[in-house]
Amino acid sequence: MDNHAIADRLDAFASLLELADANPYTTRAYRRAAATIRGAAVPVAALVRSGDVRRLRGIGPGIEARLRELVETGQIAELAELERELTPSLVGLGRFLGISARRSVEIARALGVRTGDELRAAAAEGRLRDVPGIGPKREAEIRAALARDPEPRPRRGLLLTRARELLGGIAAALGGEVAGDARRWRESCEDLAVVCPSLERFAELPQIVTVIEHSARRAVGVTVDGVPVTAVAAGPERFGTELLRATGARAYVAALEPLPDAPDEGAVYAALGLPFCPPELREAPFRGAPPPLVEVADIRGDLHCHTTWSDGRASVEEMGRAARDLGYEYVAICDHTPAVGAVQGLTPDDVRRQGEEIAAANEVLAPFRILRGIECDILPDGRLDLPDDVLAELDWVQASVHGGQRMPRGPMTARVEAALRNPHVSCLSHPTGRLINRRPENAVDLERVYEVALEEGVAVEVNGLPDRLDLGGAHVREALRAGLRIVCSTDSHSVRGLGNMELSVRTARRGWATAADVLNTRPPDALGR
Ligand SMILES: [Zn+2]
Ligand SMILES: [Zn+2]
Repeated sequence: MDNHAIADRLDAFASLLELADANPYTTRAYRRAAATIRGAAVPVAALVRSGDVRRLRGIGPGIEARLRELVETGQIAELAELERELTPSLVGLGRFLGISARRSVEIARALGVRTGDELRAAAAEGRLRDVPGIGPKREAEIRAALARDPEPRPRRGLLLTRARELLGGIAAALGGEVAGDARRWRESCEDLAVVCPSLERFAELPQIVTVIEHSARRAVGVTVDGVPVTAVAAGPERFGTELLRATGARAYVAALEPLPDAPDEGAVYAALGLPFCPPELREAPFRGAPPPLVEVADIRGDLHCHTTWSDGRASVEEMGRAARDLGYEYVAICDHTPAVGAVQGLTPDDVRRQGEEIAAANEVLAPFRILRGIECDILPDGRLDLPDDVLAELDWVQASVHGGQRMPRGPMTARVEAALRNPHVSCLSHPTGRLINRRPENAVDLERVYEVALEEGVAVEVNGLPDRLDLGGAHVREALRAGLRIVCSTDSHSVRGLGNMELSVRTARRGWATAADVLNTRPPDALGR
């Protein structure tokens, strides 16, 4: 057995362990060992036989035992067993039903089935009650979920970026279009749908491990992570109608029904006598024409990004060059200050040295402009993490709550208010502090924050990090109604991160923002303070 064959078996083992919800450290150890073996200059089988294999990096006693078994018998018994029992369709269906992979295998073993299809058939025959540990109530739950009653939903929403990647791949393979929550750019997607000319190839897509419903016009498939995806088939004469319907939201569509048949959405709206409505605004029914929403092309600069001076991965000049290549006129470098804790932050001395580096980069990149900015922590007492004379030198000051987010509402609001009163602050970063599906919004009185921000001429951020999108759409709308300006930013920590501007802009659009509402659609000298 040569090194490549051994490495391939270890990789296969790692994949199956992953599928079986094994400890991620174990899985990673097998992958690392496979990489080491693939790159080894000596035959690893010989090292195993002579008992010297642990001299290779990353091979401990556990992996050595597996290698010995593989070299001596030609297989790893547990791997062979996992391959027999752990089909992706079984795992995906189990996860969709809220059952761990290990438990799915136990159930499948008890029923003598191997795949998701066979498990579904067994459930339909009422055989689940024969499985030890499944009572009548659990059986009823599983059968209801399999009958898609209520509508299938992932166990928790998918991050928008993940949903768009998944559905974009499926839609492209079927020659269709992304619909559902992802098309409305919702921050967390539960209704995952595509509309396509035909369902023919849906079940064979690599993303879909099992199909739980299949009719002429609609199929529901499940990914290996247990996420249900609906595919709707529509011929060219009514593609627009089905796309509008599958895009939702439900209440918005219900108010337009009955929908006329039309090949594209523009024609559906025209037949209804209505102006076209961008998907971002289709959360709830409304009267009147939608405003001209801000576009990515309106953005002239990115006002929040990090470099290697704090926790970013690119230099000042690299970020500047990348922003210029995106067609921007300016970028503000906003690295962290020391109070952020987890990463290094800039001291007053650092800020001045960084200023020199920015001046040098500006000589190279002119007329493009790198602005001197900072992401300054708001300390628990509301003071800022840098002295006023340092802040006064800067072109752009983001003020941010990082530590101490669990403060009660009163003190938290006072903390943010005090920071906004500092005359050097330009913009409040990620105002609610939420992390999508992971951390709720801070207890902060946003209405009061908007009031003070308006008095002080401070803008509020629409942070484009995929798990922040903060402010979110509904809050953007409130902020605009309060008379504030918003800033669409990426908070990028790499050159690639600058590409998240679309997420920020789409989120602003969900809050009905026009170009005039967004400060960084202006040239650099008109950003004000
Ligand atoms: Zn931050
Ligand atoms: Zn940041």
